[in-house]
Amino acid sequence: MIENINAYLIKDEPYYQPTGGEVDLFMAAYRLRMPMILKGPTGCGKTRFMEYIAWKLQKPLITLACNEDMTASDLVGRFLLDADGTVWHDGPLTLAARYGAICYLDEVVEARQDTTVIIHPLTDDRRILPLDKRGELIHAHPDFQLVVSYNPGYQSVTKDLKQSTKQRFGALDFHYPDAAVESNIVCHESGVGDDIAAKLVGIASCSRGLRGRGLEEGISTRMLIHAGALIRDGISPHAACGLAMTRPITDDVDIQRALDGFVTAYF
Ligand code: ADP
Repeated sequence: MIENINAYLIKDEPYYQPTGGEVDLFMAAYRLRMPMILKGPTGCGKTRFMEYIAWKLQKPLITLACNEDMTASDLVGRFLLDADGTVWHDGPLTLAARYGAICYLDEVVEARQDTTVIIHPLTDDRRILPLDKRGELIHAHPDFQLVVSYNPGYQSVTKDLKQSTKQRFGALDFHYPDAAVESNIVCHESGVGDDIAAKLVGIASCSRGLRGRGLEEGISTRMLIHAGALIRDGISPHAACGLAMTRPITDDVDIQRALDGFVTAYF
């Protein structure tokens, strides 16, 4: 199993452009093994940040994207029938707690609250995980840390973390990077030149002004990278921005027209 956990180690340094003091703050939180919430819009770099941190700490990173159909068994594990009979399989949370990985639960509010409470005993000073079905109590490995991400923009009253969950964590806010930094990221990740990257970032920044006024979210860094990669591949900027940015983000034709206007203003 130790070999399996090593499969989650990140060997090469992930490209990550810090946007503030987030790396030092996170390292301090890790020294205390403080459970952490990464808050911010989708596609702004939270997952990449975790990959970078895991590489820097040389700890395995086990990531799980949460959804509303997820059950406690998807987190902790289950008995499965195989050729040898009924065999227990650790879930990602159990694996991380047992062998000392960082467990990253992406979009944790998507999980039902009865699933989320599973993490409670791991997030206070007990650091334990009871596996009721197996009759086992795991004391988390000293290296284990729990990290969750969530996007405050999407939350409704019915979909939010309970106070009793939130208050167990420290939190870091993530935003889209400043224009110059975001432009560097787009150049690096998509291979376009500075001028194209700066234009894509300009369009994104206009779209972010429409947040709450027809758009749930602005165009993310991830979308800019997709558009940049298409342009690099020879697709015209208009077609690339339509495919990767303005069409996926909304179905509202008026808003699409407004976004197309931004594209035309830059290209
Ligand atoms: P999130 O987890 O917030 O949804 P990601 O971490 O997947 O977003 O970011 C999407 C993409 O944007 C990444 O794959 C990476 O290419 C790029 N990216 C965003 N922010 C950064 C950053 N600060 N440094 C390097 N790359 C970044």
